Amino acid sequence: MADPQSLDRPNLARRGLMFILSSPSGTGKTTIARRLLREDAEIAMSVSVTTRPPRHGEVDGHDYYFVDDTKFREMADGGELIEWAQVFGNNYGTPKSHIKAGLKEGRDFLFDIDWQGTQQLYQRMETDVVRVFLLPPSIGELEDRLRGRGTDSDEVIAGRMARAQHEISHWDGYDYVVVNDDIDACFKKVKTILEAERMRRARQTGLVDFTRGLMRD
Ligand code: 5GP
Repeated sequence: MADPQSLDRPNLARRGLMFILSSPSGTGKTTIARRLLREDAEIAMSVSVTTRPPRHGEVDGHDYYFVDDTKFREMADGGELIEWAQVFGNNYGTPKSHIKAGLKEGRDFLFDIDWQGTQQLYQRMETDVVRVFLLPPSIGELEDRLRGRGTDSDEVIAGRMARAQHEISHWDGYDYVVVNDDIDACFKKVKTILEAERMRRARQTGLVDFTRGLMRD
C-alpha cells in the first residue's frame, strides 16, 4: 500500500477525493481495491478502526486499526471519526484528521466501507465523495465466491449472504454501479470512473492560475 506521505502530486493543483468502493463481501472489491492502490500512485487506502478481531494475516495499522470497544467509543465520542457503523455486530469507523489534511493537499483516499458509512460521508462531505457500488453477476456466484475464500464457517457465510442481500438493496445510494462479471473489465471501469472524477472542474483548485497562464499573450 502506498505511503500517503510519498504520493506523487498531480500536475494541476486539485483537491483530493474520497473514492468509496462498497459491495457485498465476495464481490471482488478487495481485489479491485488492491490493484487500484498498486497501480495508482495518487490514491491511498483510508485505514479504518474496528473492534472486530484480526483475521489470519491481517496487520494492525495496515488492514485496520484494531481496537477494543472502550477505545472505539472514546474515538466516536471524541469526534475523531468522520463516520462509523456497526457491521456483523462489530464497530467500524473512519479516522478523521489524516483524511481531512490529505484532501487539502490533493491526495485521494480509497474507502472500503458499507452503505451506512457511505451515507454519513456523503452527508458530511458531499462534494469530496464519489460513491461506487460493485454487484456480483448473480447471487449463486456470490455464495460460491464466499465459500471459495475458505476463511469463514457455514454459519458466518449464511450471515454474510443475508447481509449481502440487505447491502444490495442499497444500490440506489451510489453514484456508479458496476457489475463484476469479469475482474479485469470491472477494474478498468472503476479506474475510468476515478480518472474522470479527478478532472471535475470543482476539484481543480489550480485552474484559475493555470488557465490565466495559458491565456497570457
Ligand atoms: P470486514 O470485517 O469483512 O473487513 O468488513 C465488513 C464490512 O465492514 C464491509 O462491508 C466493509 O465495507 C465495512 N467497513 C469496513 N471499514 C468500515 C468503516 O470504517 N466504516 C464503515 N461504515 N464500514 C466499514
